[in-house]
Amino acid sequence: MKKEQKHISILGAGESGVGAAILAKKQGWNVFVSDFGKIKQEFKDELDTYDLKWEENQHSEDILLKSDLIIKSPGIPDKSPVIKKLKEKGIKIISEIEFGGYYLKAKTICITGSNGKTTTTMLTYHILRKAGINVGLAGNVGKSFAKQIATEEFDWYVLELSSFQLDDMFEFRADIAMILNITPDHLDRYDYQMQNYVDSKFRILQNQTSNDWFIYNHEDSIIAGEMAKREIAAKKAPFSLLTEMKVGAFVKEEQITININEKLTMSIHDLALKGKHNAQNSMASGIAARLLDIRSSVIRESLEDFVNVEHRLEFVAKVHGIEFINDSKATNINSTWFALESMDKPTVWIVGGVDKGNDYSELLDLVKNKVKAIICLGLDNQKIIDTFSSSVETIVEAKSAMEAVAYGYRLASKDETVLLSPACASFDLFENYEHRGDLFKEAVRKL
Ligand code: ADP
Repeated sequence: MKKEQKHISILGAGESGVGAAILAKKQGWNVFVSDFGKIKQEFKDELDTYDLKWEENQHSEDILLKSDLIIKSPGIPDKSPVIKKLKEKGIKIISEIEFGGYYLKAKTICITGSNGKTTTTMLTYHILRKAGINVGLAGNVGKSFAKQIATEEFDWYVLELSSFQLDDMFEFRADIAMILNITPDHLDRYDYQMQNYVDSKFRILQNQTSNDWFIYNHEDSIIAGEMAKREIAAKKAPFSLLTEMKVGAFVKEEQITININEKLTMSIHDLALKGKHNAQNSMASGIAARLLDIRSSVIRESLEDFVNVEHRLEFVAKVHGIEFINDSKATNINSTWFALESMDKPTVWIVGGVDKGNDYSELLDLVKNKVKAIICLGLDNQKIIDTFSSSVETIVEAKSAMEAVAYGYRLASKDETVLLSPACASFDLFENYEHRGDLFKEAVRKL
């Protein structure tokens, strides 16, 4: 790192900001942490433990504007006034992951996509752990990457990267990069330009060389279109639900094949994670594991015994023959599409919340085939009602998880499913998607 860059300011004192501050201090930077909101007590304590200077409820621009380098939390949009001023002054702004990369000695598997990031990151981590690899987990999940670099000695990291983190990455190089899929999401942060969002996702490939690997979804038309336009330096390992891949992975006659140096096959019915989307996630993780030369038997076993993270097509309970499924993490159309697609019984669908520009008509065919009733769970449900009222006879509105579950129980019969898969963010009625999922599960358990 350049020696003259002495003053570093860190915007946002959450997990990533505090971690970055700890690493910066260890590396001899002059560190200042600034949060425009209130800092959680646990993070204040941690900052104090490391004797780091911090402020909350404000940004002292006089200090920030004198910084040599800024590390910005991915939650702060580029349009915020302080970022604008810093940019005008030409101060370099990077993400915590980029900063960690400056001091990184380990290798990385970096995972992005519009959907399936957390699942695939956790699954990949699970396989590596089972194989006895000294591996850390970071990015959008787990502990701060920068902090782990300051305090741990891992050989590998599995990193979940959102587009917001990728936006502030420049020199970072992934040994193995993965793009699971690209569908419209967060367009509000990208001037409603899909290409900006796509470019952001493709930053995961920047700086890769011909020694590195790129794992991607062969069926994704946006990825394919983008690959046709770009020169990709890395070796390619696609996964496909439809087409045989010489190098990569595919599904044929309900068998998964992973073709990297040797052939690993297993039945899709043995996968712990169900549904086509999860077959994709399993293939992507399996390819990464084979690239690390992990034995097929370990990969197979790991794909069989993985326990998924909460709120992703999570089975909650069966009450009088009615199955309740919590997919609260489905906050866009694509993830809900896969949830509905994997339903094999008549379904009462709970949908709604804050919509980030959804086109619900993409779900019409699936809804016609699978959904017997809709329960809207949001403050403004008009778009949902307008799209589906001619296809679904019963549409009701609920204002709480409890009410939605009560409707679900009333509208579904034995051997049917009640699915919470909102296709929307949760902030109108809940704190976040976890809160929404937890209240849903609590209401189901009270039935
Ligand atoms: P992310 O971290 O990208 O938000 P998650 O693994 O948390 O992704 O899953 C988010 C939602 O997307 C869940 O509802 C899940 O069922 C669905 N999902 C998971 N993997 C995929 C995939 N490969 N394609 C589409 N949807 C998926």
